[in-house]
Amino acid sequence: MTLLYTDPIFLRHETGKHPERAERLVQISRQLQRVGLPERCELPTWQPVSAERLARVHSLEYAASVQEFAQNGGGRIEEDTVVSPDSSQAALHAAGAVCDCVNRVIRGDHRTGLCLVRPPGHHALQNSAMGFCLFNSIAVGARMATAELDLDRVLIVDWDVHHGNGTQDAFWRDEQVGFFSIHRWPFYPGTGDTHETGAGPGLGTTLNLPVEYGTPRKDFLALFARELAAFAQRFQPQLVLISAGFDAHRDDPIGALGLETEDFAELTKIVLEIARVHAGGRVVSVLEGGYNTGVLAGCVDLHLRELLAADAVK
Ligand SMILES: [Zn+2]
Repeated sequence: MTLLYTDPIFLRHETGKHPERAERLVQISRQLQRVGLPERCELPTWQPVSAERLARVHSLEYAASVQEFAQNGGGRIEEDTVVSPDSSQAALHAAGAVCDCVNRVIRGDHRTGLCLVRPPGHHALQNSAMGFCLFNSIAVGARMATAELDLDRVLIVDWDVHHGNGTQDAFWRDEQVGFFSIHRWPFYPGTGDTHETGAGPGLGTTLNLPVEYGTPRKDFLALFARELAAFAQRFQPQLVLISAGFDAHRDDPIGALGLETEDFAELTKIVLEIARVHAGGRVVSVLEGGYNTGVLAGCVDLHLRELLAADAVK
């Protein structure tokens, strides 16, 4: 049974007319209910992330400053990122969801999980918010896995249309967490060129696949499948995490890289197969971007169906 993380706290990160708004999760939830997917999943309760776990990725001074900014009423914490009074709590619950999901998957009760959280996380830096993100939930979950669960190699696959610069930064010199990103190029945030491959002990554990606008879908999928298989063969992950953004969809108002809804089922299958071969099928997926709310809901529906199908296979 796939683990599914949802909670009303994520709707209380209020951003007004910003594209990263609560309506995204409302539409996803409505779609999943309509097709009866939540009742096929386990819906855990969990705690917000602890300071100890958060501190492996963010400075606690930064975390405190987000909390204070939110409690003082919020506003724009940086150019692109809106904060409301409950945003810090929502972000702490988002990182907590990823940690809880990773814990349960490694314990072996479940093989796959999906965290439908917001704000997203993959642009967030050690000491600052960026690009709609406050705390880097997937990075916090990956660090917990290597620090507390005895894992030596965790792979983060990021197919959000934007480069996950925050995640890349967090693991730039880290040999235990691999980062594999496919993204539109040139595009926000400007990082993610092929020569960015990590440093020191982490040299070679970062792989970037920049893709130009206009690249045919079939080429995108073939590139992703081929490069991910080769990277995973080298890295031998014991757990695979997905920064699942759906903003590479052709109808996304912010990203758009020509993908169709069904392509996200294909991307999911490719990652699940990598996880089956190397990581005992263990996959934890975390929602990042996706800003056409109707399209997003359809994509998440197909994504979750694949996670469910994989979890059911003995
Ligand atoms: Zn994005």
